[in-house]
Amino acid sequence: MSTFNEIDVTCEECAEEFTGTIWTAVHAQEDPELKDILLGGELNILMCPKCSHSAYQDHFVLYQDPAAELIAYIYPPNQAVEADFLHKAMRTSFLDAQQVYPLKERKEYEPILVFGLETFVEMMHEEESRAEQSQIAEAICKEQKIPYLLLRPSKARSLGLLRVLPVQGEARKADRQSVLAGLEKLLAVNPELDFYAALRSTIQKNKNWTVPA
Ligand SMILES: [Zn+2]
Repeated sequence: MSTFNEIDVTCEECAEEFTGTIWTAVHAQEDPELKDILLGGELNILMCPKCSHSAYQDHFVLYQDPAAELIAYIYPPNQAVEADFLHKAMRTSFLDAQQVYPLKERKEYEPILVFGLETFVEMMHEEESRAEQSQIAEAICKEQKIPYLLLRPSKARSLGLLRVLPVQGEARKADRQSVLAGLEKLLAVNPELDFYAALRSTIQKNKNWTVPA
């Protein structure tokens, strides 16, 4: 569920005091229009009624998108100094909240901690670009009969990987050699897939690279 709060704001330009409404929780599936506003960098920007100055209101926002397996606790940037404390508090409150659900309904992924809505918006844009390239890769793999692994969204995110990983052989091994061979085939078809090209050079440089189980 998405929720909002009334907050008191003092304009940083003309010192006018006014009350504004900001979102404190955004549920991307229930309120896709809020997700679009957020991606457009316009969530929680309030305009001063006196001088029209617009400013982002730093406030905690809980962002949820179950389809993307994403729960983000977004704190104002100036709270980054308390990162360790907030991370512990986030895990505790998340695990406590999960306790009320039966085992099979509990989330199999952990929330992420982000400082600043701007940082989160950048993260989301990069994730969208990755998702686009993953979709192209999946279409190529199907067409060219290249076997591939499909990672869960939360796993791909936490590993900094793309969801679709081309591999070699029907055994679909996730080891270094198999993924490198798959990437060679994929990039031979479309060298423009820059996230995949970057992944290939990361793997080439790291002799111990592997996809954690
Ligand atoms: Zn003002």
